Amino acid sequence: MALISQETIDEVKRAVDIIEVVSGYVTLKRAGASYKALCPFHEEKTPSFNVNPERQFFHCFGCGKSGDAISFVMSYEKAEYPDAIRILADKAGVAVRYAEGGGPAGIGREDLHKVNEWAAGVFRSLLQKAPEAEAARAFLARRGVSDEAAELFRLGFSMESWDYLLSRGRRAGFDEKVLSAAGLIVEREGRSGYYDRFRGRLVFPILSPQGKVIAFGARTLKDEHPKFINSPETAVFSKGRGFYGLHLSREAYGETRAAYIVEGYMDVIVPHQAGVRGLVATLGTALTRDHLKILRRFVDKVVLVFDADAAGRKASERGLDLLLSENVDIFVAELPAGLDPDDVVLKHGPDKLRECLEKPREIFDFLMESLTRKHGAETPAAKARIVEEMLERLGQIPDPVKQELLVQQLARRFNLEERTLRGRLARTAAAAAPAVAPLPTSALEIAGRELLACAAADPAAAAEVRHKVPAGGYPTETLRRLAEVAYGLLERTGAVEGRELLRALQDPALVEAAAALLAQEVPRAEAAGRVRSAVSTLERESAKTELKERQARLRSAADEKEVDEVLRQAMKRSRNEHWRGPGR
Ligand SMILES: [Zn+2]
Repeated sequence: MALISQETIDEVKRAVDIIEVVSGYVTLKRAGASYKALCPFHEEKTPSFNVNPERQFFHCFGCGKSGDAISFVMSYEKAEYPDAIRILADKAGVAVRYAEGGGPAGIGREDLHKVNEWAAGVFRSLLQKAPEAEAARAFLARRGVSDEAAELFRLGFSMESWDYLLSRGRRAGFDEKVLSAAGLIVEREGRSGYYDRFRGRLVFPILSPQGKVIAFGARTLKDEHPKFINSPETAVFSKGRGFYGLHLSREAYGETRAAYIVEGYMDVIVPHQAGVRGLVATLGTALTRDHLKILRRFVDKVVLVFDADAAGRKASERGLDLLLSENVDIFVAELPAGLDPDDVVLKHGPDKLRECLEKPREIFDFLMESLTRKHGAETPAAKARIVEEMLERLGQIPDPVKQELLVQQLARRFNLEERTLRGRLARTAAAAAPAVAPLPTSALEIAGRELLACAAADPAAAAEVRHKVPAGGYPTETLRRLAEVAYGLLERTGAVEGRELLRALQDPALVEAAAALLAQEVPRAEAAGRVRSAVSTLERESAKTELKERQARLRSAADEKEVDEVLRQAMKRSRNEHWRGPGR
């Protein structure tokens, strides 16, 4: 991925005005020193969304979202950091430059978008007109793809030739270096020159969520291996982050807030043309964490779509482990055995597919069922194994509330004490992550934020804070990093000016945290007093937390025995039931 140069980022930060940026999206009303609006990130009737022109940040007192102009654009446009920079650079008239070594020299993302767009046009017209593309057209007709759908998805064809695209590219004025950086041609090994990557294949352009051609997938029409090939990783494309069909499906997400994950290009195209929307495919890879992060911007619910065969189940289980570790609601939709989504549409019609998708099963039930199928549920040993495996997965869920709910469900299912399972879970978690993460809004954290908020309000208070609490003394990683930057500013400029603090930060999570604490707006006159009380809270709470952690360690050691005992009894109970035999 070509990196935007630091100079460009700094220039954009200096050039943009948050009032101008935000008012491009929502209607702002002046309210004293700041501006107010209805929050674009949550539903509300009275405005609690504030924009501070002096310090250049926004904060919503309703949903707690905050940040600077860049984070605003990221959230509103559902864009990644570099894309937000590009959008803002465009608005402010700043030329975007890329860092050295961030990509092939002199070739920027725009060049790659341009050459990909051109190639998609060439492939498209070959599919429509070339006599050589007859097999490709016949294939699409056989799979029930209409001309309209082929046009919408911009399907194409690549000539069975080593240099067709290469020579057309040259004639169109594209440098070989650019064609190669886009992955359209490949450098010959051992000798000079290039050859076409895609030869004699049906071509599926892969588009970014914003609708730009970023890569291609290509399917052979002969009995040839591999059946599918993709563009390589380029400055604009990464397989582990890419989706097929997202640019079209995102429209449906506004309403349904649910994404359906399927496996192939046809599984997106055929349902879409039949009016079943919201399906996207990964590109020959398993679902990654990055995939989920991208989807989370569009949906609240991710539905894995599999056919009921055993292979599908295995694949799903692998995916599920990953999915459980992200904060997304996961469901599984099952199709008739042996059928892909496009088969379902062709054989049984779109309503049948819709029916399967409309009642997806919650991940918990799905997991329980597949574990039961794997281990059986009759013997006590099998039950214990199911509980163990479920706890292992539950241990990966970052949201404590969700985890708690699932633990309750599990306890009910096996007639076990919740406390027992929780003890077991704590032990698994402790083994996985030796450092105990502090609770998100402990008194410690509140005191830490208060200190930095005071530091931003008054230079004298800032000096006092720095003197009393070293950066390493804050309770969370975010606060420690913020403190480091704030102290650095204090040293250089004699104050922790809010606007400068935000400008010095890059990580969106840090920007959000900084804007949230600046939104506390500590009056300058109160700063010194509030520092004193926050410092004493910090000292008191640190001592308390340490004590609690020690107690927790002791308790979980004791629990272990208890857990084993309860599990043993549960097994005995179920063994007795089992031995009573049939007929009871
Ligand atoms: Zn809000």
